[in-house]
Amino acid sequence: MNKMDFWRSKRNQFPVQIDMHVHMVGNGAGGSGGWLRLKGWHRALAGFMLRQLGMPASALEGDLEKIYSEHLIKLVRDSSLDAVVLLAHERVHDPDGRPRNDLGSMFVPNDVVLDLAQQHPEFLAGVSIHPARPDALDELQRCIERGAALMKCLPNCQNIDASDRRYIPFWKKMADARLPLLAHTGGEHTVPVVNKKFADPKLLRTPLECGVTVIAAHCGTSSGAFDRDYFDDWAAMLSEFPSLYGDISALVSLNRCGHLLDCRRSEIEPRILHGSDFPVPILGHRLCLNQSLNGKAFHRIQKIDNPIERDFQFKRALGFSDQVFTRAAELLRLRR
Ligand SMILES: [Zn+2]
Repeated sequence: MNKMDFWRSKRNQFPVQIDMHVHMVGNGAGGSGGWLRLKGWHRALAGFMLRQLGMPASALEGDLEKIYSEHLIKLVRDSSLDAVVLLAHERVHDPDGRPRNDLGSMFVPNDVVLDLAQQHPEFLAGVSIHPARPDALDELQRCIERGAALMKCLPNCQNIDASDRRYIPFWKKMADARLPLLAHTGGEHTVPVVNKKFADPKLLRTPLECGVTVIAAHCGTSSGAFDRDYFDDWAAMLSEFPSLYGDISALVSLNRCGHLLDCRRSEIEPRILHGSDFPVPILGHRLCLNQSLNGKAFHRIQKIDNPIERDFQFKRALGFSDQVFTRAAELLRLRR
């Protein structure tokens, strides 16, 4: 079924449930131009992630894009979700726009996710563009024409100071196209951090003031004991900016779950979107230890093989409302 027929068929059963934070991973073996460079414990972590997804660690050496996307589409079809936003991954750049291939651990070009979204209606393309790139505006235009659903970046890992005045034309173009920005906030473990201070959600004021709908991935939460928690800073911005949201991706984990229940607060939940951060492992153990979930529910859900479904079920069991799972369809303009 092509994309238009797919969404037309969904129109009768709107609202649809969307996981709006799923990573594409690849090594360029199939000729995409992407790459994966894993050193030290990141390599061990990648092997662990693949195995817990039911893929052999040897996939890292094979045609990873193909193996990974074929596995992922099965997981999505076998879950309660109607679609997922599949995210490209931009390279690190200097503020003057030079790519820094010596930094960062992976590059997933935009065409990888745009092509996959064209082939599979269950995938929506989350493109990734460093706004300092000399061709940033052209690439943005090209991605919009190819049907991008949002633009994703990790300011602290890709070296993007979102408050840099030079990026204003880029944010304005996104606002004009009504393309939302999904920006990583808070610390990060799975890809190397280049500039820690760009984890601060307050730097997102500039795109917000330009009229961009901004989704702060992870709601500014810290990724562990050693980095700053920006949750309260993010929550304080909600009343000032009606087009600011947050996603609860990676919050069912051992390190990032501290604010998960705060996201259910009545003043916060209307601004929350569901996302898993797949393939980051979904581990609900601390939700059981801190009694957010009873032991029976924890064991039943943690046993679910499909991580996309497991994350969804944990959030259901914690009492998140229907709208948290369906809100993305409005924001991503799927009801056209
Ligand atoms: Zn992520």
